[in-house]
Amino acid sequence: MLAKTAKIYIAGHRGMVGSAIIRRLQQADYGNLLVRTRQELDLLDQHAVFNFLRAEKPEYIFLAAARVGGILANNTSRGRFIYENLIIQANIIHGAYLAGVRNLCFLGSSCIYPRDCPQPIREEYLLTGPLEQTNEPYAIAKIAGIKLCESYNSQYDSRFFSIMPTNLYGPNDNYDLATSHVLPALIRKAHEARQGGDRELVVWGSGRPRREFLYVDDLADACVFLMEKGVGEGLYNIGVGTDVTIRELAQTVMEVVGFSGEIVFDSSKPDGTLRKLLDVSRLKQLGWQATTPLRQGIEQAYADYLSNLNQRS
Ligand code: GDP
Repeated sequence: MLAKTAKIYIAGHRGMVGSAIIRRLQQADYGNLLVRTRQELDLLDQHAVFNFLRAEKPEYIFLAAARVGGILANNTSRGRFIYENLIIQANIIHGAYLAGVRNLCFLGSSCIYPRDCPQPIREEYLLTGPLEQTNEPYAIAKIAGIKLCESYNSQYDSRFFSIMPTNLYGPNDNYDLATSHVLPALIRKAHEARQGGDRELVVWGSGRPRREFLYVDDLADACVFLMEKGVGEGLYNIGVGTDVTIRELAQTVMEVVGFSGEIVFDSSKPDGTLRKLLDVSRLKQLGWQATTPLRQGIEQAYADYLSNLNQRS
């Protein structure tokens, strides 16, 4: 039972996912939240992490700290993506074990599944085939994180579970065009194209790959739901259950932003995997479903993008 006074550590609380988990916990009146900025605690520093967890002894951990990025960042910073993710998760998961923290929610990603597996993707398809090349190092690190959780549960008295979100978007997203995912990139590009009076919007790849998009507050709701339910083990896909082509996504973003130019495809950029739609029936059976429709979520994300622009200017 997750008590409202339970001490809950959110690793990565300044990121898009961690900050959404904080919003969700605060909204539900959880009053004992533990956070540390990167300046206060370097999650790549094993001893610092072990000491912090031993001293604070949280009862629950949401592990949302990670090196993340879009197709280009994953493909080009391959060493950094595998190293930082392996180290951060190993430090926190082993540190949790040493400090006697029993409950942990590990945030993975839908890219852990084989590139060519049947759609929609069920949790059982993990490790049944080769991975997508563009984000293989990141995926391998995340698979290691899932296996850390499973192995600690089987050897020790822990209750660690993993969740696999589909592509996320929402407040606090990364809008840097070199490292971002497609949805924030298109919001920014469409906004700047409208502001600049451009006639074209450049979309990477062929526009044909299909992706599923989950509003980050829905993800946070699912993470807290599973912790409250006390699932304590296993792997859970979190998505909306439907996907769109990148071309369709670009059209919706253009409508929301109010840019009516032409879409131009840049075929020098990779498509990545052609489809990765999650099967979300495991979570549905437990009684959870995403509630934010894509268009409404894009409107909310765009409003957040605009308010951040206004704050900076
Ligand atoms: P992925 O889901 O891991 O492949 O990551 P992304 O969200 O970065 O990319 C999803 C798809 O959107 C890929 O096919 C990209 O080529 C395509 N895409 C189209 N335009 C953009 C863009 O401006 N930025 C990014 N990151 N992807 C884009």
